[in-house]
Amino acid sequence: MEALRSVPAYQCELLSSTPSPSFFRCPRCSTARRVDDDGGVLVRAFVLTGPGEGGVQDLPAPDAGPGEVVVDVERAGVCGTDAEFFTGAMTYLHSGHASYPVVLGHEWCGTVAAVGAGVDEAWVGRRVMGDTMLGCGTCRRCRRGHQHVCGQRQEVGIRGGRNGALAEQLAVPVTSLHALPDAVDPVLGALVEPGGNALRAAQAAGAGAGDRALVIGPGTIGCLVAMFLRAAGAEVHLLGLPGAALEFARSLGFEDAWTQDQLPPLPFDAVVDCSTGTTAPALALSLVEPGGRLVFIGIAHEPTPLDTRDLLLADLTAVGVLSASPGLGETIAAYASGAVDPRPLVAATVNLEDVLDVLAGRRPPGAGPGPKVHVRP
Ligand SMILES: [Zn+2]
Ligand SMILES: [Zn+2]
Repeated sequence: MEALRSVPAYQCELLSSTPSPSFFRCPRCSTARRVDDDGGVLVRAFVLTGPGEGGVQDLPAPDAGPGEVVVDVERAGVCGTDAEFFTGAMTYLHSGHASYPVVLGHEWCGTVAAVGAGVDEAWVGRRVMGDTMLGCGTCRRCRRGHQHVCGQRQEVGIRGGRNGALAEQLAVPVTSLHALPDAVDPVLGALVEPGGNALRAAQAAGAGAGDRALVIGPGTIGCLVAMFLRAAGAEVHLLGLPGAALEFARSLGFEDAWTQDQLPPLPFDAVVDCSTGTTAPALALSLVEPGGRLVFIGIAHEPTPLDTRDLLLADLTAVGVLSASPGLGETIAAYASGAVDPRPLVAATVNLEDVLDVLAGRRPPGAGPGPKVHVRP
């Protein structure tokens, strides 16, 4: 099997003997691929064509350009950013950094199927995940290690026309890849990207043994932040609206999961806002202990008021977290060691055909209680 796996399906010589157009299952690679009238290989992808509309299309298989790899996508997550593309609320659609049609998908793992010029052939066959943020690599920010906030950056499946992973294949720069150990299965692999965001937020909170942390917003990121804080030894509380999300957090072992009315008047050494609430940042500020730390990773749809006088008069440290980039390696290690196991977050794994429903907020039949839906392209 190993030898066969190293032959990417669309490079298989048997493919060229296929009459076209057709649906072709290669007997050597066993992978299904379609070809168009001119013999060009096609891949299936979920294409969002406008607010509220989209579906599965056959697109030309991506090429591995110089410095790039093509990955066979094994699993991809759907997240809040994707839902914002569905509604049309996503900021980049209005700033000109993104436009329809778009192939979404920035939380993914897969197997390298082909490499472009200048890329080590040894990548072929390796299981990988990739950084969402693709900085230009040459500007001042990139050179200083801040490629995730490069002004010229692309974001996979989000920004700059870089197709994402809700497709059978995607092409990404080899420099964005992280190899996955066997202990990181496909579910964990597609949770590395949101996990990297959460790990950075947990680290920014700086809470460990003897500290008490509060996480506002028990969604995917909130639960992940709580898990990383718990792994660091902190006493973790969660704050959310009444309902299923808090119940789910309790099922993960977070018994201190409160509504605002129930929240006990305890000193919190760190407060992490993972919500999209307009008033949540000010609430976080009102709840944190003097000398403590505030972390902002949730994005509201409107400006959020915050009185900086309260910030400095309490000698607080406030940190914003945009991306997973600097935290991906550590997240993979935490999953591989079992220190953090976020797999219960995944409620269901669906097909590309089901993505529109998921984006519209309809829960798949038989879905579990978790906040995350995965796609098997
Ligand atoms: Zn995401
Ligand atoms: Zn740059």
